Amino acid sequence: MYQMMTPGPTMVAPEVMQARSKEFANPDVDTDFCEEYHELCGELADLMHTGNEVYLLGGEGILALEAACASLTEPGDRVLVIDNGIFGKGFEDFVRIYGGEPVLYSSDYHRAVDVEKLREFLKNDHEFKYATVVHCDTPSGVLNPIGEICPLLKEYGILTVVDCVASLFGDEVRVDDWKMDVVCGGSQKALSAPPGLAFVSVSQEARDAMLGRKVPIASFYANLTTFFNYYKDQWFPYTMPISDIYGFREAVRLVREDTGRIKRHEKIAGAVRTAVRAAGLSVYVTEDGDNASTVTAVCVPEGVCAQTIIERMRTEYGILISGSIAELSGKVIRLGHMGNNAQEEKVEPMLSALTKVFEELGVVCRIPLEQTFSVEMKNQS
Ligand SMILES: *Cc1c(COP(=O)(O)O)cnc(C)c1O
Repeated sequence: MYQMMTPGPTMVAPEVMQARSKEFANPDVDTDFCEEYHELCGELADLMHTGNEVYLLGGEGILALEAACASLTEPGDRVLVIDNGIFGKGFEDFVRIYGGEPVLYSSDYHRAVDVEKLREFLKNDHEFKYATVVHCDTPSGVLNPIGEICPLLKEYGILTVVDCVASLFGDEVRVDDWKMDVVCGGSQKALSAPPGLAFVSVSQEARDAMLGRKVPIASFYANLTTFFNYYKDQWFPYTMPISDIYGFREAVRLVREDTGRIKRHEKIAGAVRTAVRAAGLSVYVTEDGDNASTVTAVCVPEGVCAQTIIERMRTEYGILISGSIAELSGKVIRLGHMGNNAQEEKVEPMLSALTKVFEELGVVCRIPLEQTFSVEMKNQS
């Protein structure tokens, strides 16, 4: 196999893999499972800095996004879709599928949302039931200031659905301080568990909106209200994927122990960006402060093919990096440094291999990537 340095999934700790292979209880019949699930959701809530209830769902991160939109959207609802990235724009589809009317607020994909401009926009148009926004839009690595955006939307009584799948546990997320209503996470990004589980935190206001609907939710699996009484009723709407949850729980334990993780992500991401620029290459996100700490999208130099870089990294150096999707496909390569992979001893070999691959393809780095990276890591410590 290869070192998986993609922006999700990541390399997974052996303890997590072992936990997944344990003998398992019957999650429908054994009430201990419900206690364990409840406790685990409480730990997630702590990590997200919220007193809101958190629910762990059997499905990939996408399920959290779809469930949020399915549960909130009633036919004809106007929904503000904040679009400065591919996942940001993607919410348009979920809103439409459930009968809502998406209104796109689009801005430059190379930078974070400008809060002052959004404020101006909202002065003229703020009749929205809720808004969607992505924290780290992974295909570009842009990081939006949700700590300012969500409170601003709240001034107009607009609920927020925030995709934190690729930021949580790598960049700071403070659900209550930032007045976020529905916050989505997934197992396979900075938590470093395998793909397969999603989770959401739901505020009281969002619960009220979901329960107070006139039109029933047009889904069963993506209906978040089916979870609202799980603990009281000791009942889940479907058999929970218990082995996945055992692994996930172990990953949460490791994250809780790793109290320096946010700082470490920041330091590594900063050093990667400095290295890319010092090499004479460019980072897709133009301002450092607008880039997430979990992923760096590097612009593919003129005359080089993204897929060739990725293939050579994998076949010659045993390191898997990623391209991008949709309109960024072929334009950037993405270096993941999230969760388990946010470690100097994993990032340095990736950069060293990338310097060599670039050279093989006729792109000579002004300063080898790994060299600047190592110096930066020393300087910052
Ligand atoms: C990975 C990711 C998701 C979940 O997508 P999957 O297809 O389930 O991996 C959602 N939002 C963002 C921003 C992501 O990076």
